[in-house]
Amino acid sequence: MINKVKQNVFQLNFQTFGSTVYLIKLNDKNILIDTSSRENERELLRDLNRLDIKPKDIAILILTHSHWDHVGNNHLFNNAKLITNEDLEELPRELKPIQTPGHTQDSFCILYGDVLFSGDTIFYEGGRGRTDLPGGSEEQILESMKELKKLDYKILCPGHVD
Ligand SMILES: [Zn+2]
Repeated sequence: MINKVKQNVFQLNFQTFGSTVYLIKLNDKNILIDTSSRENERELLRDLNRLDIKPKDIAILILTHSHWDHVGNNHLFNNAKLITNEDLEELPRELKPIQTPGHTQDSFCILYGDVLFSGDTIFYEGGRGRTDLPGGSEEQILESMKELKKLDYKILCPGHVD
């Protein structure tokens, strides 16, 4: 299901468990944030098709962290430049990364104007990511949440919506 967040930002949600996927159209480039779980491959392709986008049209693929439910369809986007926590300097300058360890060690968020893409660090209604999986830290996620509170954003785009 496609939700239009802004003129050039779309939220894709799926029937089966897996992360939400975001599409940003920025300066004629299609940027995808996360790819959900493998089970959602067909639905992801269908939604992109409805937006008139083919997998090869995705120029940049950003992964908020490396959990399976966020990276399951990476194989569809071989044309895209892959950006993980290790290559954040390659992000377009409009996208500002914020390191937010806690849910995992490699978790980061992205501020784009007044939109915050928060991965599994924070969710709607004060929710936050679990810290009981490998690499998780309760202490770190609380610190990360403090950092996010300082940001001036209006729209939250989390990695899971329910
Ligand atoms: Zn996760």
